[in-house]
Amino acid sequence: MADDRPLRGERRSEPRCPDCGVTGMEHIISRESIERSRARQPWFSVVHCDACGHVYDVISKHVFTIEAPPRFTLPRQSESSSGER
Ligand SMILES: [Zn+2]
Repeated sequence: MADDRPLRGERRSEPRCPDCGVTGMEHIISRESIERSRARQPWFSVVHCDACGHVYDVISKHVFTIEAPPRFTLPRQSESSSGER
């Protein structure tokens, strides 16, 4: 296991907390909101540092629930299928 790659201070794969300086994914914890929608889905989840509590990001989960799948209408296909008979 020879790792010759020099460490350039920061490793990209290891996120670092800007507040307390702790590094590593294991220190980044996501917590779901206590309040939930009727579908028992958490409204959002908070991504925070487990060492100091610094909040990295708030992900609104509810958005994903509302978001409808993209509708693709292929004009050619629908035209030919409706026109050809
Ligand atoms: Zn921190």
